[in-house]
Amino acid sequence: MDHSFRYTARDFTAELPAAAYVARFRDAERVGGYCRECGNYGRSWGCPPFGFDMEEYVTRYGTALLVATRITPEEPGLPVSEAGRLILPERQRLERRLLEMERQYGGRSFAYVGTCIHCPEGSCTRPEGRPCRHPELVRPSLEACGFDVARTASELFGIEMKWGSGGRMPEYLTLVCGFFHDAESVVWNG
Ligand code: SF4
Repeated sequence: MDHSFRYTARDFTAELPAAAYVARFRDAERVGGYCRECGNYGRSWGCPPFGFDMEEYVTRYGTALLVATRITPEEPGLPVSEAGRLILPERQRLERRLLEMERQYGGRSFAYVGTCIHCPEGSCTRPEGRPCRHPELVRPSLEACGFDVARTASELFGIEMKWGSGGRMPEYLTLVCGFFHDAESVVWNG
């Protein structure tokens, strides 16, 4: 069966002081509550709770680069159950680039929220208390660090996140990731 979908993807970027991004868009209590209600909570090394100091994690670097990716399927009204498959190539592309950015500039990346893509689904080692198989690849999402990504998309990019209805995908999907750094300038070559 062919599971590939035709779509267009476009990246939008915005940069601001990390302290300003934290002040405007981080609501750790409320957003953390959504994580605690999720079935992945504590069951993937990419999800909270984390074993590091979260305040240090989000304030260590001076500048926050945010990247919003709008994915528009060519065929409207695809089943929402196919969303993960539709966005997988974009998640792979974005995560590859984020890790390259860390190597190129130093800094810290924040991946897109959702099931970790680095092991077969359902095989994360965390429920068994064993270490992550690929800690060099896994980065927490902005949401997992308490950031309001829907507000980020709407206020920094003018993109309203859409959720679909009746089991169908919306007209477009939006992924938001980030890269916090201390470099003088960085270039996002998605
Ligand atoms: S890389 Fe594997 S072990 Fe690590 S968080 Fe992802 S699914 Fe879990």
